[in-house]
Amino acid sequence: MRVCNFSAGPGVLPEKVLQRVQAEMLDYGGTGMSVAEMSHRSKPFEEIVNRTVALFKELMNIPDDYYVLLLQGGASLQFEAVPLNLLKNGKADYVVTGNFAKKAYKEAQKYGDIACVASSEDKDFTYIPALSRDMFRRDADYVHITSNNTIYGTRYTQFPDTGGIPLVCDMSSNILSEEMDVSKFGLIYAGAQKNIAPAGLTVVIVRKDLCDNPLPICPTMLRYSTHGKKNSLYNTPPCFSIYVAMLVLEWLKEMGGVKEIQKINCEKAQILYDFIDNSKLYKNPVRKEDRSIMNVPFVTGSHELDEKFVKEAKDYGIVSIKGHRSVGGMRASIYNAMPIEGVKKLIEFMKKFELENA
Ligand SMILES: *Cc1c(COP(=O)(O)O)cnc(C)c1O
Repeated sequence: MRVCNFSAGPGVLPEKVLQRVQAEMLDYGGTGMSVAEMSHRSKPFEEIVNRTVALFKELMNIPDDYYVLLLQGGASLQFEAVPLNLLKNGKADYVVTGNFAKKAYKEAQKYGDIACVASSEDKDFTYIPALSRDMFRRDADYVHITSNNTIYGTRYTQFPDTGGIPLVCDMSSNILSEEMDVSKFGLIYAGAQKNIAPAGLTVVIVRKDLCDNPLPICPTMLRYSTHGKKNSLYNTPPCFSIYVAMLVLEWLKEMGGVKEIQKINCEKAQILYDFIDNSKLYKNPVRKEDRSIMNVPFVTGSHELDEKFVKEAKDYGIVSIKGHRSVGGMRASIYNAMPIEGVKKLIEFMKKFELENA
């Protein structure tokens, strides 16, 4: 039996997609083999890459002067690749809103003069700091932000005006969850395992002109131009993960695209936050206007009760609800593939647990 999986990543995938993968496992499209066994230079696989890129462009409305790159190494490798490709004056500004943002900031320091222009660490990353144009250095090569902070459950509801400095965004945990204007960004990157596909694939959407003149020490494999010029087929890409990404994007398109999934995501988050705010037992520590619609952390205020919650939830068919070790408590990750019924079932359990432990 399938469980209600609130994992922060790798996360739940649409059931329909998994069934399709199962049906095509022995014979993909009459080829007599699985995509997992197929040459990445074959015609059917090339079509999978092209279709996946086309679906990203369509669903996210990506302008033609951007590459959509299908890479490996996770979002974490992008913490290096971004400065290695984008530092031209040797300066970049970072906004630190969580663990991953901090890691990105620290990695970049190896390659230039990197400033932290704002941070929310003073309040345990429970809010998004206010940003204005004058906070950024005029000669910075880029400004780096994290659109959704997976561990802390915060998100940007508006993106900073950088005054023309390219905006770089780690969108790993909320890409494709709500409408965003790609043309406002110089570069977007995301590990696929939260909202797109199984682990192994990293998507980079980057304005082509920013890919010229990487730092001389930038390895060939980390150069965006290497992969951009070869349609992500410079070397063997994460083929199977790309194939599942294609199916997830087809599914999303059938659902009505990002606009429609955004409505569903907002409703899912709304009913959960409303329940938490009205309960006596549960609390969400995040400033209301900065709350994520993908990751919802909550606590009971007692370590023992939190542990009991996680344990009893499992018997109820609700799994991977434990909060990140740095925050504790619980966290419900309600990515695109989590249906509203799953959130309703969680609320039902939370009610029952509250009654029993009042
Ligand atoms: C999960 C996550 C990462 C790390 O991704 P990897 O693919 O494991 O390197 C980085 N940033 C954010 C915002 C994440 O949610």
